[in-house]
Amino acid sequence: MKNSMKGWQASTFAQKVIDYYEQHGRKHLPWQGTRDAYKIWLSEIMLQQTQVATVIPYFEKFIQYFPTVEALAEADNELVMHLWSGLGYYSRARNLHKAAKMVIQQFDGQFPQTTQQLEQLPGVGRSTAGAIAAFAYQQPTAILDGNVKRVLARCYAIQGWPGNGQVLKELWSRAEQNTPSKSTDKYNQAMMDLGAMVCTRTKPKCDICPLATKCLAHQHNIIDQCPGKKPKKARPSQSTYWLIYIRDGKVLLEKRPPSGIWGGLWSFPEKEQITDLEVSHELEPILHKFSHYDLHIQPLLVDNSPHINNSLQINESNNNDWFELQRLADIGLPAPVSKLLQQLASQ
Ligand code: SF4
Repeated sequence: MKNSMKGWQASTFAQKVIDYYEQHGRKHLPWQGTRDAYKIWLSEIMLQQTQVATVIPYFEKFIQYFPTVEALAEADNELVMHLWSGLGYYSRARNLHKAAKMVIQQFDGQFPQTTQQLEQLPGVGRSTAGAIAAFAYQQPTAILDGNVKRVLARCYAIQGWPGNGQVLKELWSRAEQNTPSKSTDKYNQAMMDLGAMVCTRTKPKCDICPLATKCLAHQHNIIDQCPGKKPKKARPSQSTYWLIYIRDGKVLLEKRPPSGIWGGLWSFPEKEQITDLEVSHELEPILHKFSHYDLHIQPLLVDNSPHINNSLQINESNNNDWFELQRLADIGLPAPVSKLLQQLASQ
């Protein structure tokens, strides 16, 4: 499938994206129209997990209080955190303050210029470093934020989850391949804009997308599968044995402790492990699904010889009782216990 994208040169891809920027891209955001790396860095950190409209007033407030990286570095941490309040992901604010101090102390007050140095600043990853280098210093550096990942994953029908190392590598390789050496800042801005405004998570506007003619996910109608979602963790599971004692038409049930699953209901005596399976017959296993885990139940019909019962250490106590199998008393029973009792009664 990927081969059909071959007919589209990286330069054509980039040109279409830049054309989109010229016509529709966002050009008047408060951190645009400047080459001040400090302001660009500040905006990029704020935009990492937050949408543009939310970021704007925070950005303006920060620039008002801390017009330079020196001002931010010298600020009281309480004030930095206070001004960040409401923007969320507060580790960004802590890292921001640390990074400002680092620029003053380790880079002599000059904002670093290479992506390698930029990545040394707390909170600055590869994509943020690429954005700062492109926007502030016109370097041909690629970016790969969440929006760009989505656009590229769809264009190239990459169905894996971007949190997976291999998938991320492939996305970076596509990002690098398409990033032009000229007008990189416009291209990067346009890719962010496309992801935010056209190739949206749900209901992308393919009819106005400049990449639609070659977008593989669009062509193959698999947009909702690109990129792939985070794989769900396997549901936890537990297993237990139910010991079924039947004597003289009566069945032994045990009242469960008041708290925990099926609290206070009557169930079969349970064991987590059985060492001597010869004393019993295995019945059909039961899978019971709780909201947070699966319970695998192996019911065992226990041989009713008393000495064998003793070997399984079932003691009659206040917590258990014998009930007529054919005329079950009006007692609280978990659904799978009730179902199994009905089966036993009908045999
Ligand atoms: S054609 Fe649709 S799915 Fe493909 S990049 Fe454009 S908006 Fe996204």
